[in-house]
Amino acid sequence: MSENKAKVGNVKSRVKLVANPPPWPDGKRCAVAFTFDEDAESILHLAHHKNASNLVTSMSMLQYGPRVATPRILTLYREFGLKQTFFIPGWCIEKYPNLVDAILRDGHEIGHHGYIHEHPNELSYDREEYWLCRAIDVFERYTGSRPIGYRAPSYRFSRNTLPLLLKHGFRYDASLFGDDVPYLLSNGNSWLVELSTHYAMEDWAHYMVARDLNYMMPIKAPSHAIEVYRSEFDSAWRHGALWITVWHPFLSGRLARLEAISDLIEYMHEKGGVWFATLGEIASHIEKLVETGAWSPRVEVFPQYPTPIPELENGL
Ligand code: ZN
Repeated sequence: MSENKAKVGNVKSRVKLVANPPPWPDGKRCAVAFTFDEDAESILHLAHHKNASNLVTSMSMLQYGPRVATPRILTLYREFGLKQTFFIPGWCIEKYPNLVDAILRDGHEIGHHGYIHEHPNELSYDREEYWLCRAIDVFERYTGSRPIGYRAPSYRFSRNTLPLLLKHGFRYDASLFGDDVPYLLSNGNSWLVELSTHYAMEDWAHYMVARDLNYMMPIKAPSHAIEVYRSEFDSAWRHGALWITVWHPFLSGRLARLEAISDLIEYMHEKGGVWFATLGEIASHIEKLVETGAWSPRVEVFPQYPTPIPELENGL
């Protein structure tokens, strides 16, 4: 009986639930990245091209992101000494150049997030490449460099996205939900680093109400949303995993919600052993581990299904 008893009690801390976590820099327990997607009103124009200017309340809700929320997010990051990653559609970079300057001035990273938040998996290869390159061009003009990281708008990663990212020199993607730790996406010849997350790390599920965009999520208290994020963080900390948020300034940058985020960052600092990094820094760390053979991540080779499966060729 005593033997059985010895096996229970804080089992989750003792067992290895992540099979092969990477070594993080300086012996840190886990890696944390707060990523914000600065979609602004691009999503309203995409959904309601001709009528967008008549949806004034929705427009103001989305513009709150770049105009009000992001400057205060930058203030909070300065207070904590954090450098983080913002994914911004090319169209929003053109629309809000001063904001882009402020983000870069504070040493943050900007990642590629489409041009007008178009959905790659609804486009042909050629159209997907057209919008990808149009946004790369904007990047080069406004930031002085090419983006190395990508997040597909609305996670609409297509069967053509990986070959296109490899062709255009991207080094990491942050669109998929496939693991708790970084892994590699390969086309058989070359690879890039996948830094995946999942819906629990989103703010959409907790806060997104927009009649004009057909989202009517029940609004949650910031304490509820933070409880979800903190649970994920505590587990990542115990098991050496990667914790990446997908937040939006117009949602999570609202006052009470950002105050709750501030408390969460303090909680992480108090817990200790956390590597706060941009996704670009995390991708570089993983590349170095792979190149030196210090750690071998899981590799997923694409395309996984070059054709639809034959079992269903004639229907059911
Ligand atoms: Zn987005």
